[in-house]
Amino acid sequence: MTPAIEIRGLRAGYGDRIAIDDVDLSIARGSLTAIFGPNGGGKSTLLKCIAGLMTPRAGTISVLGEPVGVAAKRIAYVPQAEQVDWSFPITVEEVVAMGRTPLIGPLRRPSAADRAAVRAALERVDMLDAAERQIGALSGGQRRRVFLARAIASDPEIYLLDEPVTGVDPTTQEKIMNVLDDEAKRGRTVIATTHDLACAAQRFHDVVALAGRVIVHGAAQLVLDREVLEKTYGGHLVPLSGGGVMLLDDPHHSHGSHEGHE
Ligand code: ADP
Ligand code: MG
Repeated sequence: MTPAIEIRGLRAGYGDRIAIDDVDLSIARGSLTAIFGPNGGGKSTLLKCIAGLMTPRAGTISVLGEPVGVAAKRIAYVPQAEQVDWSFPITVEEVVAMGRTPLIGPLRRPSAADRAAVRAALERVDMLDAAERQIGALSGGQRRRVFLARAIASDPEIYLLDEPVTGVDPTTQEKIMNVLDDEAKRGRTVIATTHDLACAAQRFHDVVALAGRVIVHGAAQLVLDREVLEKTYGGHLVPLSGGGVMLLDDPHHSHGSHEGHE
């Protein structure tokens, strides 16, 4: 079977700046893969290229054996929270219903089955009670769950999630990760960027370290490998879950601040 995603020699950037280069990656179907690395390491850029939202400077990307544009309907992409305009006046249910648009087309009215899919997706993330609320009135963790519901409602074969658990409380993180784990068990491919290395090690199958190029791609435990971390973060700061950081250059002194994970 062709892999979910096959990338060869990918280069992408903005203006005269190259964000990622020489990226070769093969992501198996049904895998649950975390992409981690320093800020500016190109995680969001890589997801945007796979989602077809950015045109590569070089290289090829095939999604489920097809070119990116052709496969767009089979992908659900959820942007980083910072890239969303939360003041847009729209209810939770309307946000999730947008996930159905690629399936029903923009001109047809949603059917009873579409509405049922929207409600089922909201139920999966425990947000059905908030269906009538404005998205802007929700907490960060609730918004994240609603956007995950929108992705679920589109019934994708591949999830591309940009920092789905960043800044959410541990209970919400657990809920989100349970849903992603279930989707992977159903054979869906899940790729998520994260700064939470503990979460990456415990809840994902595979990890990709990205710092402008792929440092390593392998089993999730690699996020705990000192050599991998030094190569990825340049021997400086490693973010820990909860927003704390750990300095790697001095093994004798702990500079860790508020680790946040229990
Ligand atoms: P990450 O998600 O790992 O933090 P990004 O993919 O957002 O990294 O960014 C990779 C590089 O591309 C960074 O140097 C960043 O400053 C640059 N970059 C990202 N988005 C833009 C943009 N819209 N315009 C110009 N430069 C950008
Ligand atoms: Mg990013």
